[in-house]
Amino acid sequence: MGLFDKFKLGFKKSANNIASGLREIIVKKEIDDNTLDNIEEFLISSDVGVDAASEIKSIIAQKKIDPKNDTIIEVNQILKDYIIGLMKPLEKKEFFEKKQKQNVILISGVNGVGKTTTIGKIGKIFKEADNKVLFSACDTFRAAAIEQLEKWSEKIGVDIVKSEAGSDPASVAFKAMEYAKNNQVDQVLIDTAGRLQNKKNLMDEYKKIANVISKNDTSAPHEVILVLDATSGQNIINQLEEFNKVIPITGLIMTKLDGTAKGGVLISISKKYKVPVIALGLGEKEDDLQIFDAQQFAKAFTQLN
Ligand code: GDP
Ligand code: GDP
Ligand code: MG
Repeated sequence: MGLFDKFKLGFKKSANNIASGLREIIVKKEIDDNTLDNIEEFLISSDVGVDAASEIKSIIAQKKIDPKNDTIIEVNQILKDYIIGLMKPLEKKEFFEKKQKQNVILISGVNGVGKTTTIGKIGKIFKEADNKVLFSACDTFRAAAIEQLEKWSEKIGVDIVKSEAGSDPASVAFKAMEYAKNNQVDQVLIDTAGRLQNKKNLMDEYKKIANVISKNDTSAPHEVILVLDATSGQNIINQLEEFNKVIPITGLIMTKLDGTAKGGVLISISKKYKVPVIALGLGEKEDDLQIFDAQQFAKAFTQLN
């Protein structure tokens, strides 16, 4: 199976939702005002967002649909072009390129979104690009969290710096920075805890990790990546705003797109925040991370070529 086929498969719940929704709404050759309203409403219900849905509606309204063509395909084409126009500038494929200098990446996000799993997947891509990779187990809240990252480090074959459960996460980050310097590490991936119920503490702890990293290397962290779970609905907006207030986010990774019909949420946040999209999570395994490509995303979303 090719990469794009795999992507389409992981994305089929969202794509099928769009396809069947449009098929139900567009039953005539001509698109009248009522149909336009229904398309807009449907896109909003698919989490594409009010602003994007209204823009897409006006583009469809302005376009003369050729009666010789299939109206649904024409609408999908408009949707596809819109997504590419919006999201192409948000690609950041250079994230995965080997850097000249040591690169430190802080991975943030609330509990259960897929941070640790994503670190494993990124680690694999980095390693295959000939990077020396280090994981830093700064989610010290539960022993299981440390073990989980340790398992990933063994699976991928990269180094890990960790400490006992309950220890200060910033001290683990400190140790990791020292280790990275002494061992010519290219990519440092810092895992963090994401306990919503303990928000103030979490954010203080998170900020402290970043401070310790910066003290060691004033240009670090070079990337602050927010991991978002596509199945969390409108909570995503809240999470982005809260985390961005503490340390500005330099990129997003959206996980669990394989488990939802609401992949449109990525369009919604792209319209609203213009934050680079690094990659998409389409499963639990080590190869289930797709480097973000706007055209591929738009094609999979609309089932067009
Ligand atoms: P963390 O608390 O943010 O570190 O989240 P974890 O990495 O522990 O992941 C929480 C759960 O989500 C685990 O069961 C992962 O296997 C699962 N998971 C992570 N990413 C994906 C994804 O892209 N797709 C699916 N289906 N599951 C995922
Ligand atoms: P503070 O702990 O509130 O004073 O904040 P700092 O930013 O000074 O340090 C945060 C954490 O990083 C500390 O709790 C230490 O565990 C660790 N750390 C900072 N500086 C050093 C250092 O020079 N040596 C070691 N071993 N750890 C350090
Ligand atoms: Mg974790």
